[in-house]
Amino acid sequence: MRSRVWVIKCDKTSRQISACRLRLSIDKALRRLIRVFDQIARYIALLFLRLLVDFCAKWITLLIFKAQMLMVKRETKCPYCKRWTEWQGELYDRCHYCDELLEKEEINRLSAAETQRRMNAEAEQALLEQQNPFFRKLSNYITLIFIGFILSVIAVVVLFAA
Ligand SMILES: [Zn+2]
Repeated sequence: MRSRVWVIKCDKTSRQISACRLRLSIDKALRRLIRVFDQIARYIALLFLRLLVDFCAKWITLLIFKAQMLMVKRETKCPYCKRWTEWQGELYDRCHYCDELLEKEEINRLSAAETQRRMNAEAEQALLEQQNPFFRKLSNYITLIFIGFILSVIAVVVLFAA
């Protein structure tokens, strides 16, 4: 529409006409550019929409899967009475028939590991106690002096830098 207005406004002189043509071509180029930008914007919007839909779909499938996992009853074979019994996946679940712990082996294994860890810690503690008290104190002092030295170096560096 604007170009037509320009055509009407143009006068007879060739100079004005050429200026008018130039304006028209600029106008056309701008319009083409706008169209291209419009397409790019549309493309980007579509891309985002697609990503969003993909994301939502993934989450929805995950949620459905989790809900199914929750709804499905898990069963396990009791190691004592050899019957299939309901199992929540917990460590201290019991058999519905003979009331025995289903995960007794796992519990034993975990408690053995805990005992081992505690024994190791105690042995370490005993070794520390056995050390000469003088050397223990000395090592403490050396550590303190070392930390103090590093702190003083940092302080000096900061002072000189400032
Ligand atoms: Zn049982």
